Amino acid sequence: MQDSRVERGRLLVVEDEPSIRELLCASLRFAGFAVSSAATGGEALAAARSDTPDLVLLDVMLPDRDGFEVVRRLRSDGVRVPVLYLTARDGTEDRITGLTVGGDGYITKPFSLEEVIARVTAVLRRTLPGRSDSELLTCGDLSLDVESHVVRRGSRVVELSPTEFRLLHYLMRNSGRVLSKAQILDQVWSHDFDGDAGVVESYISYLRRKVDTAESRLIHTVRGIGYMIRP
Ligand code: CA
Repeated sequence: MQDSRVERGRLLVVEDEPSIRELLCASLRFAGFAVSSAATGGEALAAARSDTPDLVLLDVMLPDRDGFEVVRRLRSDGVRVPVLYLTARDGTEDRITGLTVGGDGYITKPFSLEEVIARVTAVLRRTLPGRSDSELLTCGDLSLDVESHVVRRGSRVVELSPTEFRLLHYLMRNSGRVLSKAQILDQVWSHDFDGDAGVVESYISYLRRKVDTAESRLIHTVRGIGYMIRP
């Protein structure tokens, strides 16, 4: 587990607001990254040197010094790590300042976690050598990015819970094949899960509400057997 996380990329999350910091750290770890964190500019400078992250997510408004100052210090020390700023401010002056001191872009608060993961993935794909392109599963206009966990129906981003994501991933890996409820239960829930196939029916209906809304339906019930996804 540890190795695959380091393989995916090491991130440093710098954010003084504990709830945002913890949410970002948990979500990015869930998405497969190795994550360390800092709450101040001073901690960020120390962590950027000791943890050698592949990318820094950096809040602009920090209690001791602002994010731009942190990057100036890093760059003057020769640390070239890519930086994505997190900012509630979206004024032109801030954008120019950030780009001048070597940032790789902005994420404006409030942000969606999918947006953060997609942006991080895009920068790392460019900056980490030898990284393979992410695996993108598609079915009709539905797409699922295995690495970034971003699911889209057309241009609409679909927000899924972890269990819903695993279920959709399993269906899409087996697109066009009928999967029994027992197979789904076995693959998507842990082997020692002490539930019955009713949980599969429930989660299929949650997924349908999010994925199969107004558009043509992709998730099909095969009566007496199970479910299948196909265009
Ligand atoms: Ca802040």
